[in-house]
Amino acid sequence: MPHPLLLSRAHWTGLLLATSLLLLALLWPVFSGQNQTTESAASTSALPQPLQTTTPDIEALSIATPAVIDTSPTPQQHTIASGDTLQAIFQRYEIGASTLSAIMQADEDILALDVLHPDSHLIMEKTPRGELQRLTLELDPGRILHYERSSEGHFSYAWAPVELDWQARLFRGEISGSFYQSALRAGLSDQDAMNIAEILQQQLNFRRDLQAGDQFAVIRGEERNQDTPTGRTRLEAIRLQRGNREYTAFLFSDGSFYDAEGNSLTPAFLRLPSKQPYRISSAFNLARRHPITRRVAPHNGVDFAMPVGTPVLTTGDGIVSRTGNHPYAGKYVEIEHQGAFKTRYLHLHRIEVRRGQQVERGQRIAQSGNTGRTSGPHLHYELHINGRPVDPMTADIPEATSIPDEQLGQFRDQVETTLAVMTKHANETLVASLFAPTEG
Ligand SMILES: [Zn+2]
Repeated sequence: MPHPLLLSRAHWTGLLLATSLLLLALLWPVFSGQNQTTESAASTSALPQPLQTTTPDIEALSIATPAVIDTSPTPQQHTIASGDTLQAIFQRYEIGASTLSAIMQADEDILALDVLHPDSHLIMEKTPRGELQRLTLELDPGRILHYERSSEGHFSYAWAPVELDWQARLFRGEISGSFYQSALRAGLSDQDAMNIAEILQQQLNFRRDLQAGDQFAVIRGEERNQDTPTGRTRLEAIRLQRGNREYTAFLFSDGSFYDAEGNSLTPAFLRLPSKQPYRISSAFNLARRHPITRRVAPHNGVDFAMPVGTPVLTTGDGIVSRTGNHPYAGKYVEIEHQGAFKTRYLHLHRIEVRRGQQVERGQRIAQSGNTGRTSGPHLHYELHINGRPVDPMTADIPEATSIPDEQLGQFRDQVETTLAVMTKHANETLVASLFAPTEG
């Protein structure tokens, strides 16, 4: 997705490295106990504090030095190459199988280590005895994950506390040729163009209904860490003008899109990922403690006790963003939905979709199973809204209805301001983000 105002790949990589190193340096002493600002607020257990580095006076220095001397080996950094696996990397850096297993156990909630992305970075820090103390994975400039050794050979994970914010940019253009070509000319990506067509699909047919000269305006949010784009974007508002007809979509704080009157454009979700309800064998619980170790082990989803081979249904329309086979999560599918929704389905017996595939609500995507580390056949189902796991049984899921009366005033203000911004500014102007997701 080349973009005139964004950075080239070389700059990007350089910035990513610089930012990450700076972050590591800055964040190390205050790592534990920070509020998480990135997704999955689930830091597991208190992490050991590094040694205090006070400034001793000159007299004390010669005595104090031997006590605080740091004999830890220098951290080793590895840049992921295509086809790299954590197992192969650990072998190369002489990290044992039991550590690999403990790390993968901590990764079950995140699923970041079974498929490694080329050009991301791993930083390995060892104890003086040569054991892995901490593994850092830099997914993008806004998402840095630490896996830290705690007691009894266990690892816990935590996101580096990063202040992410969103910048919005207005894209304006005129239809000439297809909508797709016109959108790319205005600076939007091909993914943006496809998403726009999907969001407005109930209102108009992009092939048939648009004509040369029709106008469009799109506000796209771009996530940043300080001034560095993380690469994540989201559509916040769309307006298409055809003669004196107007088609609009606005992202609201609940994560769904609505037209200017407040009618939902986001298709409804199913509550359950199966045809019939099954017994819940383990409920959603962010503060769950492991019954034996007493460690905080959040349960980011809900477990349904279902026999192996039960059809698993996607709860909403979307695109399969990931499939994989994780030593703890087993075979899994992740689906990105319109707006701010994501779902995950774990411990599957058989996956019946592939990455990039478009799926419709209620479509069968897999057979439930007992893969990974489980205590019996079940389906683990997760729902994420605005990047956070929520209880799928109680969360406000899209219901394809209208904005509730009590929020209509707020929504109308958002619509009015957005339309004014779209009218006033030129293509690719930076504008204030009008979309503010509510917490929780
Ligand atoms: Zn579960």
